Amino acid sequence: MTTSNVQHAANATGKVAVVTGASSGIGAATARALARDGYLVVLGARRTDRIDALAAEIGGRAMYLDVTDPASVERFAGTLERVDVLVNNAGGAKGLATVAEADLDDWRWMWETNVVGTLRMTKALLPALIASGDGLIVTVTSIAALEVYDNGAGYTSAKHAQGVLHRTLRGELLGTPVRLTEICPGMVETEFSLVRFDGDAERADAVYDGLTPLSADDVAEVIAFTASRPPHVNLDQIVLKPRDQADARRNVRNR
Ligand code: NAP
Repeated sequence: MTTSNVQHAANATGKVAVVTGASSGIGAATARALARDGYLVVLGARRTDRIDALAAEIGGRAMYLDVTDPASVERFAGTLERVDVLVNNAGGAKGLATVAEADLDDWRWMWETNVVGTLRMTKALLPALIASGDGLIVTVTSIAALEVYDNGAGYTSAKHAQGVLHRTLRGELLGTPVRLTEICPGMVETEFSLVRFDGDAERADAVYDGLTPLSADDVAEVIAFTASRPPHVNLDQIVLKPRDQADARRNVRNR
């Protein structure tokens, strides 16, 4: 992809949406939903085979992106002349350990990806978002940005920090034409648990056993709705959970 074709290929609305972590789950579903609504979607992730295929399907653009790598973020951002929407979605969890048994590498992965990755992408694309005249930054945090739970401090602390970064911008960007929406999902069935449990599919499947979780499309529809609001309407924070889940620690199964 070259700089000019991102600008010139913008489709029905002429608007460009960047989705990080678009190779699976919520990011892939969001890319589809925004393309359906007329955005030219630029998909970023490390698994380029997947984003190449999805970009071909939705008429978008795919580019390698590792949000933990400053050079990769700089290369990615450098090809974009126009950005109307940034969806900071790349992220996830590693492990479920007590603080006493915390794996420092897991913590570093979660903080680098969710927090510093969001910071890098936001800094890199903010000038273009402001220049668009009606920019939108959506950050996918979690109910883990609002609550804590045992064995989850690596993830909940990273998601709290990501949420604080995002909410701080809401004040700092007052007076600029940029809206900010934080999306806080509860359980969504994606590859999230597979990543958290290092590829252990049985353990990952058990997370959703006996209840009906949200799907990636459920979350993507909310993000697309947010983007469809007029410029003066800012949806600050949206919390969405399955009916079977009251909070991060309480859910009902086999009912
Ligand atoms: P997922 O299916 O595992 O998707 C995670 C995405 O993040 C993948 O596309 C992955 O792409 C990308 N990613 C990971 N590390 C990256 C990096 N260094 N650079 C660029 N992309 C990276 O999980 P998901 O549930 O859709 O997660 C999306 C977001 O929702 C995450 O921020 C997650 O914390 C949040 N969330 C999930 C849930 C849930 O229950 N599923 C609930 C609340 C919030 P590559 O591996 O190809 O790079």
